[in-house]
Amino acid sequence: MTCNSTMMESMNDYQLQQTLLITVLLLALFAGWKTFYERIKRALCQVTVVVVGGGPVGLLSAFLALKSGRAAKIVIFEEKDRKTLLNGQYQLTFDSQRVDFLKKCGIDFDNIEGCCHDNCFTTKVGVFLEYILDHFSASNVCVKTRFSSKFDKESCKELDEIQGRLLVIACDGRNGQASRLLGLDEFSEQHSCNAYGAIAAIERTEARDVPTPEKRVHNLTFDLSAYGAYNSENDCFPGFSLKVFGNSKHRFISLAISKCESPVVKALRTILDRSMMRNIFMKCFNLYKTGYEQSLSESYALNHMKFSPRLFEIKLSQRCETVAYFHDCDTFVLAEGEAALSFNFHTGLDINPAIRGLMSLSKFIEMITLAETELSISNALLFKMKHYEFVCKDLIRNGLREYMFS
Ligand SMILES: Cc1cc2nc3c(=O)[nH]c(=O)nc-3n(C[C@H](O)[C@H](O)[C@H](O)COP(=O)(O)OP(=O)(O)OC[C@H]3O[C@@H](n4cnc5c(N)ncnc54)[C@H](O)[C@@H]3O)c2cc1C
Repeated sequence: MTCNSTMMESMNDYQLQQTLLITVLLLALFAGWKTFYERIKRALCQVTVVVVGGGPVGLLSAFLALKSGRAAKIVIFEEKDRKTLLNGQYQLTFDSQRVDFLKKCGIDFDNIEGCCHDNCFTTKVGVFLEYILDHFSASNVCVKTRFSSKFDKESCKELDEIQGRLLVIACDGRNGQASRLLGLDEFSEQHSCNAYGAIAAIERTEARDVPTPEKRVHNLTFDLSAYGAYNSENDCFPGFSLKVFGNSKHRFISLAISKCESPVVKALRTILDRSMMRNIFMKCFNLYKTGYEQSLSESYALNHMKFSPRLFEIKLSQRCETVAYFHDCDTFVLAEGEAALSFNFHTGLDINPAIRGLMSLSKFIEMITLAETELSISNALLFKMKHYEFVCKDLIRNGLREYMFS
């Protein structure tokens, strides 16, 4: 009896162990399969991306969406036709930080016609846009660029027909209406950049649009005694910063100075004498132009130079709401580039403030693609809002220091 019961007990133990082992194995298998399934599911999650505006920021947004691997389909609305867009006259200058960022994203600057100078890359806007458009045609994700298509109320209705999660990025520039049409709050704030500035533009009709490096000069002072303005020895330290930029056909000159109330600054802010400003710009240009350029004569400046007649306060406009989620249609709306923020002053490196927001775009796309709960959707919105706040605060605090004063 004792022997039998011991045998029974050991058999029970054995069965128990077997059952336990099988249970553990099944659990492990289930956990493994679940993880595998989740991974596959996460890897396959995608969104449809619609971009409004085919300017540098719009096409770069589409490029980043494509590179994220999360876009099932990309549609770009551009109101200009392809030829007009690619014939854009102005040049783009990327500073070294932006060059590094874009290189990491896959932009091959060695294959873009342009010039490198002081770690900056300068090219024609059309050349840059064409490079990105070529990239789209080589991709196997469907990227549809709808040229000559103005985004309007009717286009908003078209968006309702798109199935699944949607991201719409408004990149229609500083006068764009897309953000408003898409439901973002219209309110925007203006921040003083604690500086004054003035800008002049010269068109050299005989020249071709050849990318030209920017030139900066600092600590300039002007003698305005001929205009009746009082000059003092210790006037306005550290003086004006000057930048000559643009391509060889469209030349721009910008002058900026940190806010101060010296007699010269006061005079340039209050005396409306066009000849005074014209003389300053003309003399600055002739002194600091690139070597091969022709000097400006007085009559040329009189007939071909447009300029601010006096110093104005430099401000940054910031759209207050740049990102939102609309639950009923599972749509995220985002404003980027000059549709989100812009200076009232050309620094020449304007593309850099404009593309700063894009530095968080890839992560944002990843977050919204995977977001399933309200919390994860809020986290994605919060992440983008915080980055935008950071960009604005940084531009207000340091923007002009980086672009004009150093
Ligand atoms: C005269 C001039 C000189 C410049 N010089 C320099 C320079 O020297 N260096 C430099 O780095 N940058 C320069 N810039 C660049 C510029 O200042 C911006 O930084 C840059 O163009 C901003 O890009 P964006 O894509 O946000 O806007 P934008 O370039 O304005 O692009 C917006 C696009 O949206 C399209 N659009 C608008 N509304 C709609 C709609 N409803 N539907 C469909 N499409 C729409 C427009 O046609 C446009 O193509 C210059 C710009 C100008 C105009």
